[in-house]
Order: sequence, then structure tokens, then C-alpha cells
Amino acid sequence: MAKKLAEYEAKRDFKKTPEPGAKVPRKETKALRFVVQEHHARSLHWDFRLERDGVLVSWAVPKGVPADPKKNHLAVHVEDHPLDYINFAGDIPAGNYGAGHVSIWDEGTYDTEKWSDREVMVILHGKRLQGRYVLFRTNGKNWMIHRMDPPQDPDRKPMPERIEPMMAKLGKGIPSPDTAWGFEFKWDGIRGVAYVEGGRVRLMSRSGEDITPRYPEVHTMGRAIGSHEVILDGEFVALDEKGRPSFEQIQQRMGLTSETEIRRKMKVVPVTYMMFDLMWQDGHSLLDQPYVERRRALERLKLSGDSWETPPYEKGGGKMMLEASAKAGLEGVMAKKLESKYEPGRRSGSWVKVKNRNRQEFVIGGWLDGEGKRRGVPGALLVGYYDKGEFVYAGKVGTGFTDSMLEKLHELTSSLEQDKSPFDVGAPPKTAHFVKPKLVAEIEFVEWTKSGQLRAPAFKGLRTDKPAKEVVREGG
Ligand code: MN
Repeated sequence: MAKKLAEYEAKRDFKKTPEPGAKVPRKETKALRFVVQEHHARSLHWDFRLERDGVLVSWAVPKGVPADPKKNHLAVHVEDHPLDYINFAGDIPAGNYGAGHVSIWDEGTYDTEKWSDREVMVILHGKRLQGRYVLFRTNGKNWMIHRMDPPQDPDRKPMPERIEPMMAKLGKGIPSPDTAWGFEFKWDGIRGVAYVEGGRVRLMSRSGEDITPRYPEVHTMGRAIGSHEVILDGEFVALDEKGRPSFEQIQQRMGLTSETEIRRKMKVVPVTYMMFDLMWQDGHSLLDQPYVERRRALERLKLSGDSWETPPYEKGGGKMMLEASAKAGLEGVMAKKLESKYEPGRRSGSWVKVKNRNRQEFVIGGWLDGEGKRRGVPGALLVGYYDKGEFVYAGKVGTGFTDSMLEKLHELTSSLEQDKSPFDVGAPPKTAHFVKPKLVAEIEFVEWTKSGQLRAPAFKGLRTDKPAKEVVREGG
């Protein structure tokens, strides 16, 4: 019998790991037991173990035991474990086989319906898991685990592939009475939705692009979420040396695609995912729940880590929040109606952004030559926005650039050059180099003049997450 656990024993040094030794008891207990252990090893997985013939027959399930009969999960057959392992929870020290934290995710008894070398069918009576499951071998050590009964939760729905983020209208000030509103700091970064399932994180941009590889530091958030299935809304921000979100810095991360580039830049410009909404949890949509309830559910997840954070919100007290945001050098605040639903893809009046300075995206329609050492490269950009399909000139932007940004702009605009002015409305300088209106820039400015031009505009960065055609004049 000791031979049964030979592989288990060979992989471990029992002087160095708190895991139980290899021991096969003579007698079997009457009701056969099972355990599912959540194992935070190098790669998060769940160990599914069934008591049989004095040992625990075991599978490692990377995405966990499926709750939904429509989803089969991979289950890798691993070596038998001793029966005592059924109670094991704790830390396997670094340097040992399977190093990392182990906790008991579920336990109970089970009935055997079928048991062969390639198919194991059981009925689980656990605290979390109840019902009929089958494990079947597909190839070598690879098996699949499948739920045969309907979902335990009869209202459970499959997680949607995509929920478009809700957008905010630009407000003139704090809405009143502010007691009906919740206030969050406005994060100056890149919007992103996180889909988390089986401890794995998938990140999508506002326009629906898969940006998972772009922010590797956020992937480990999946471990913190464990077996929960969630869709989160938030913003990727890069904090400057004063701890303020810097749009210029996040730009250095948003265009990268090569893995080595991303890994290198990650050390210089680390990104934090600031979460402010929860749209989906464990088979249920939260979209129709009021903001306060969604926030409560989000806060219950206690998501706070090295590269992700759930900043709190305030009920009422909007003026104070706005002042605090200005003092902290932040862009402004977001006001969200406490009783409002989440409206995917809509720019809804239930969310209002209140900014300390005016700021929005514009489309680049041309550039003017620089002076001195900047001759031949752009010294100022000509920008505009769309109004009912017409491209409207809004003014020239001559400050806020670094030398490397000007070079980059020169490179980007050179392939877009055209003789004719792209502007349908307004009077841009005739000496300008005109370009096809494709590039989107973020511009900060003091106000709109009466003639519809920007007063004291400054360049803040390029945006690649917004199509040029969607750029309109905000706040009327
Ligand atoms: Mn394991």
C-alpha cells in the first residue's frame, strides 16, 4: 500500500513542508469524503480530491470546479495524496514543491456512481458544491470536469463576453442637492473593464479591444478574486512622483504591444487599476441594481493590492470632494446618482464629471512649423471636433509638449499629410500643414471663447482609445 503514495513522497521533504507524510490507513471510514483546496501556487488552481482505497485520488483544476453545466474545465490528474491531506491548510514554504498558500475551499462527502480509469462520476454533498459531476479522461493526465446537474443556483446566467462601459456627462458644477449623489475622485487614466473567471483576468478597453497583455501587473488580481466570477469597471492610472495620476505617464504604457517592451516599461511606469463599479457577480447581473448596492457589493470583495485599489466614495459632500481633488492636483470628481442603474455604453445624466479645469479630447487637423530648433517639426497643433458630421476648427495648441512628443507627432502626422484643409467650419491659418483628421489628443484649457475657440490650451497627451469621429464639444 505504501507504494501508492511513492510519487507523493518523492516530491516532498517532510522536514521542510508542513504537509502530512505518506501514510495509508488500514480502515476506511464509511461515508467517503472529498475536499477542494484552493492552492495559491505559482499558478492559482483548485485541487479536487476524492477519498478512495485509503488515499485521496487527486486532480488539479486550473479554473476551479465549474458551477455551470455548459462549461467543462480542465482537470489534470496528479499523484494520490495521503488521507490526512484532506484537512491540510497552510503555507507550503518557498522552495518546496507546490510552494504557496493552501486553503479549504469546500469539503463534504460523496457517492460514487461510476469509477473507471477514464471516467469518474460522483454526487457531491459539500458546503458549496452539491450535485452530480463527472470527470473524464481526454488525453494522458488531462481530464475534464463537467457538472451533470443543472446549476445549483437556478437563476445563474452565463457571464457576458462584453459589457460596454457607462459614460458621464460634463457638469458645470456639483449637482444639487448633493445628498442624492455619490462622489468619487476622477482618475486621469485609461478606462478599462476587467472580466475575472476562475482566477483569470481579461482586460478590455472602452472600444472593446483586448488589452490584457498590456497591464501584466493587474493579472494577479485574479488570485485575490479567487473563485468569484466578476466584471469590474475601472481606470488604469500611472501615478507620478507625487502620487497623482499622470495622463502623460500612462500614455507611455498604452501604445505598447511587445511583451519585452511592456515588461521593461512596467518597472519605470507602473500602473494601478482603480475600480469603481461592479457590473456582474457569480452568475448575476448587477446592472439594474442602484449605484449604492453595486458599490456595497464591490467593497465586500475587498480588492486592494499592489496594483489594484478600490478607492472609496462619499455620499454627498460634493463641494468638499471637489476642493480636495483640486488640492491633491486631481482632475476633478465624478458625481453618480445613488439610486441610478448602470447603463452600458450610454453617456447618462446619472453620471456627471465635474472638472477643476476644462479638458477634453480634440482631433488633430494640422500643424504649424516650430521656431528656432523646432523648425521643420510641429510647433503647434491645429485641433477640432465634430459637430453633426462637420469638422469644426477649435484653435491652435502650442504648449505642453516634450521634445520627444513633438518628434513622435511629426512622425505620426507625416503619413497623414494632405494639401486641403480637413476643417469644414472655421478659419485655420493658411500656412499650416494639414493632415487627415485621425489622431486624437487630450487638451486642457481655461475656457471656450465666445467665438468658439480654446483659451490657453495645453497639450496633455495622445489618446488611442477613442475614435476621432466620436470627438465632440463637451458641455455644450
Ligand atoms: Mn495543488
